Amino acid sequence: MTVVSSAESHRLSRRLPVAPVPLPGESLFSWVDHLAAVYEVDRTEIMQWLGLDPRAAHASRLARHTAELRLDAARSLHIATGLEPEAIHAMTLLGVVEVRRSRPYRLSDAPEAPEETWAFCPRCVEPPVRWPLWWYRWWAVMCPEHNCYTVSFCPDCGSPFSPAILRGDAPGHCPGFTSLADEQHRAPGRRRPKRKRCGRPLWEILTPTVADPMVRDTHQRLVRMAGEEPSSLDRQWYDDLRTLRILLNEPNPLYVQTFTGPDPALRERYTTQERGSMWDDTDTNPVVLRATGTGFLHPWRRTSPSTYGKERDPVTTGAELSVIASVLASDDMAAAAREAFRVLRPASLRDFDNDLPPYLYRASSQLHALISQAQTSDVLNRLHASPEPPRT
Ligand SMILES: [Zn+2]
Ligand SMILES: [Zn+2]
Repeated sequence: MTVVSSAESHRLSRRLPVAPVPLPGESLFSWVDHLAAVYEVDRTEIMQWLGLDPRAAHASRLARHTAELRLDAARSLHIATGLEPEAIHAMTLLGVVEVRRSRPYRLSDAPEAPEETWAFCPRCVEPPVRWPLWWYRWWAVMCPEHNCYTVSFCPDCGSPFSPAILRGDAPGHCPGFTSLADEQHRAPGRRRPKRKRCGRPLWEILTPTVADPMVRDTHQRLVRMAGEEPSSLDRQWYDDLRTLRILLNEPNPLYVQTFTGPDPALRERYTTQERGSMWDDTDTNPVVLRATGTGFLHPWRRTSPSTYGKERDPVTTGAELSVIASVLASDDMAAAAREAFRVLRPASLRDFDNDLPPYLYRASSQLHALISQAQTSDVLNRLHASPEPPRT
């Protein structure tokens, strides 16, 4: 429907008397919730005032706006708050767009899944909370202010977190449902009881201290690059970082031969075990650590007696970043990469669904030996034959 009612056009042109400016690096989601708190209204109402079209699922809609904001929504936001377009743009991951792309962030090269799992600092989410846009990024492994690892799932119930599921009526509390243990003890034939919300205060979640300077420096550099125009040196470093990360994880993992970092939390994640067997039926814990092909243990969540899913995990990502950043910091990257990784099975074009990530084309020549070992010839031919994709 294109007809705008007079009530709506009135609403869209209304200017809020006061609109607090966003904090540096703040996400749109956080700022809109902050405005709601300032005006003592709920999220639906503030979104209506701002012309952000709240509809039913207001949290996931706001998460979507934070990913990329349609031009008409950005305009009404500007009219309602007087905020400059640059400031609005800076609160979104992909910026202001004419037409929304359909879930572009599913690609591992694109900015990270805004409607999906998030990493946050427990100590920073005690209400009232305002949180930075970079919490959405895959590299959001630590909080520079509290020097601790971030968290992506609830240790009590295993629910992964995203702002899209944060409840307005219980701010800062885990919105997940309690574990399956109650389900399993249900007498046969009895009706399924209504599942209870977990409700754990997120700010009470304990998370290890970061003791690896490599993780700290890498994270600091990535935060800086997210906030300002990166230098060409930064860009090359980031291309190499993502290249090693994709080689390490997908589609066919590289095995990390040793892990000697100084951080006990990261060392605990390293194992020489083979890839773990799936599940121990007697374990009622909603989340367990299992070995993956990379040499790192990864938390998995059981979602029903027979299904389980990999959790996003900042600590494991921190361990991977530590290994990758050490290779990139070495004077002889080629030798450091040889020492760090073992190729178990090279990946083919089919493993990449025929679509190679653009940064792979731009990797430093020092990584070429590792790339040729870790990829089959069809991938290498493609890398040599095709022009380098433009940087976006
Ligand atoms: Zn913090
Ligand atoms: Zn929970």
